[in-house]
Amino acid sequence: MAEDCLFCKIIQGDIPSDKVYEDEHCYAFRDINPQTPVHVLIVPKRHVAGLNDTQALPDQELAACMRAARKIAQQLGVEESGYRVLTNCGPDAFQSVHHLHFHLMGGRQMTAEMG
Ligand code: AMP
Repeated sequence: MAEDCLFCKIIQGDIPSDKVYEDEHCYAFRDINPQTPVHVLIVPKRHVAGLNDTQALPDQELAACMRAARKIAQQLGVEESGYRVLTNCGPDAFQSVHHLHFHLMGGRQMTAEMG
């Protein structure tokens, strides 16, 4: 738990969220400003600022986020149609919330363009 971290407050339940999944290590909720019909944020419960800080995150907890992605894709019906999982790290990628999170996006045909 980091003070003044939006996602820590969401995990704690101090700020409401549209939760879709939770386990021991991670928490997932719908993005408030969805870019695709399915747009979920998967966050480790332990606070780390981003992908550059994952030395502070046990492998099991990082892996839990990826395993959750597949479960959520299944749960929300995009496992077969397809989905993207991505994380923005740093200013060039427009990371705006400094608590590691993975965007799970799907529910429509995307373009091959990723940048
Ligand atoms: P990023 O720009 O990769 O750091 O992504 C941060 C994401 O958090 C954005 O897609 C925002 O729409 C989303 N977001 C910000 N505040 C909230 C909130 N209170 N509940 C859900 N999603 C949020």
